[in-house]
Amino acid sequence: MNYLRPGISAMKGYVPGFQPPDVASWIKLNTNENPYPPSPKVAEAILAEIGSDGAALRTYPSASSQKLREVAGTLYGFDPSWIIMANGSDEVLNNLIRACAGEGEDIGYVHPSYSYYSTLAEIQGAIVCTYGLSDSFTIEAFPDHYGGKLFFLTAPNSPLGFAFPLEYIEEIAQNCGGLLVIDEAYADFADWNALELVKKYDNVVVTRTLSKSYALAGMRLGLAIARPEIIAALDKIRDHYNLDRLAQAACVAALEDQHYFRESCRRIIETREWFSRELTAIGYDVIPSQTNFIFASPPDRNGQRVYDSLYGRKILVRLLSDPLLVHGLRISIGTRGEMETTLAAMTEIG
Ligand SMILES: *Cc1c(COP(=O)(O)O)cnc(C)c1O
Repeated sequence: MNYLRPGISAMKGYVPGFQPPDVASWIKLNTNENPYPPSPKVAEAILAEIGSDGAALRTYPSASSQKLREVAGTLYGFDPSWIIMANGSDEVLNNLIRACAGEGEDIGYVHPSYSYYSTLAEIQGAIVCTYGLSDSFTIEAFPDHYGGKLFFLTAPNSPLGFAFPLEYIEEIAQNCGGLLVIDEAYADFADWNALELVKKYDNVVVTRTLSKSYALAGMRLGLAIARPEIIAALDKIRDHYNLDRLAQAACVAALEDQHYFRESCRRIIETREWFSRELTAIGYDVIPSQTNFIFASPPDRNGQRVYDSLYGRKILVRLLSDPLLVHGLRISIGTRGEMETTLAAMTEIG
């Protein structure tokens, strides 16, 4: 079709993790969703927003998501002018590329990490240069002066689950001539995060999502924290009503219920540590995780075999087709009960 830009015709498009139609009959550990529901305050806030007749839905939501920026600002220790809300962190990742990298300009990211960055670069016509990982999880051959417009760092890493030390991330920030976007989708499950670098370096942006740690993947809520100049630029290019009224109500309720949030994260981390120990004991190679999933390889390094056997037992995990990753599986941390069932199955499968 010659109606389309050539780059768009040639694109393959991002393939999200499989969402089975009969989801209730599966143990679903393939897309890093939270196994626990969000805070009960979330449903209350959504119902209150709808009201008895839905009249509030007649009018547009707050264009600036002001209340959310204030609540997030208080939580993370930033003025609201340093925060932008997004319809999932995917939206703000997209707008960061659109704001910084034009056609033919360079962007980079670590491989393996979140493959959606390459889709976003393709849409924009930007040129991607990826950097590999050493066995000790440092970035191979990262230049002292990286000249690309933008570099995405998934920290902690997905799909491997390890976390870069903060001093190491700081070095990367110093070496980047363009923006360093630290994608902290999993930081709530980690022992540290890079928020302080946003205050220290004018080229650092941190993105967060409520999809995983706040159990709100279905509401599409994310945010970015950066200098007000960067936030103002992102504000110009986003859809002006990017968050609907229900998402805004849900977001405020979720962020304000920190007690529920911390308890939910604590349980997931506890299960993660238990499951990692147990899998190691049956001979799996497990990368120490700072996220809500683990990357684990069976003794015969045949990820496909274990994936298929688990699939046959209606346990869905993530097998990544990349040659660097086919020896293992990415397994989201579910409830303790789900992980006990999964461990029993994996023990049987061997
Ligand atoms: C899940 C995920 C996202 C996307 O988050 P949404 O807020 O659901 O769009 C972004 N980056 C990474 C690394 C993720 O794993």
